[in-house]
Amino acid sequence: MNMMAEETKEVAKTYILGPQDRCDSCSAEALVWVNGVAGELLFCGHHYNKHKSKLKDYAFEIVDERDKLIQNKLIGSEN
Ligand SMILES: [Zn+2]
Repeated sequence: MNMMAEETKEVAKTYILGPQDRCDSCSAEALVWVNGVAGELLFCGHHYNKHKSKLKDYAFEIVDERDKLIQNKLIGSEN
């Protein structure tokens, strides 16, 4: 079941975000880079989920690197 993939573009496996990149909302490690009408935003997984619906109107490019977390098994639980 993969019903979430329609809006999110698949990007090459090279990650653009690293440990130095921090979420604009909470300073956790940023996992999603958003390029939108007012500039670039960085989100952790939590805040990306929180703002996702609004970002559809804002962003014209989203780089979602949350699969890094899955690879690293750093995800505890959603929500
Ligand atoms: Zn955050």
